Amino acid sequence: MTFAVEPAPTPTLPVRGTDAAFPVHRIFCVGRNYAAHAAEMGAEVDREAPFYFLKSAHHLQLAQGNVPMAPRTENYHHEVELVVALGRGGRNIPQDQAFDHVFGYGVGLDMTRRDVQATAKAKGRPWDTAKDVEASALSTPLEPAANVANPAQGRIALKVNGSVRQEGDLSEHVWTIEEIIADLSTLYTLRAGDLIFMGTPSGVGPVQVGDVLMGSADGIADFTLTMAPPLA
Ligand code: MN
Repeated sequence: MTFAVEPAPTPTLPVRGTDAAFPVHRIFCVGRNYAAHAAEMGAEVDREAPFYFLKSAHHLQLAQGNVPMAPRTENYHHEVELVVALGRGGRNIPQDQAFDHVFGYGVGLDMTRRDVQATAKAKGRPWDTAKDVEASALSTPLEPAANVANPAQGRIALKVNGSVRQEGDLSEHVWTIEEIIADLSTLYTLRAGDLIFMGTPSGVGPVQVGDVLMGSADGIADFTLTMAPPLA
């Protein structure tokens, strides 16, 4: 087969301990999955149903080095999150089998045009241009699941220029990893390569060019990156 135009390269994440890259298919993001973050956004958490938004896999960038700011925002926010990578797909996955579908974990950032999101919320519009931003899905290399003792517990934190801005624990997820995988698999046919950003603890805030962001999820991964000017 020939392509009419050059196909986009497959987005990938490195896998710790191997030369094999993990090919990323889709990026699902869980909204309001920490009660304290929901509260700072003026919302309440309920256990009625989780909700999601998506980012293009092509908006993934490794959480290291220079990361461009987004254009068309005066309030570009950091959201540090656990990243779950699926190594097996499926539909209607039972919660008690959910971890069989996990390939590995990372920690990353769901970067957000907060001003655009606020307007979208106020006007009842979609969040796409607030969330599905180029270079806004940032993740460390993946740590294979076999090396992660307990992805449901551990401190997750973000420092900006050395000051702790976000801090929480993976045990505080409103919806657990197995609940999210099971629920998503009733909405979509999940497949190997899908990433899930599990939602952010409280303390989200704006970044500026030159800011150094250091994120960590204990027992999983950590990163350091620098915010750079928007793509020219
Ligand atoms: Mn988020």
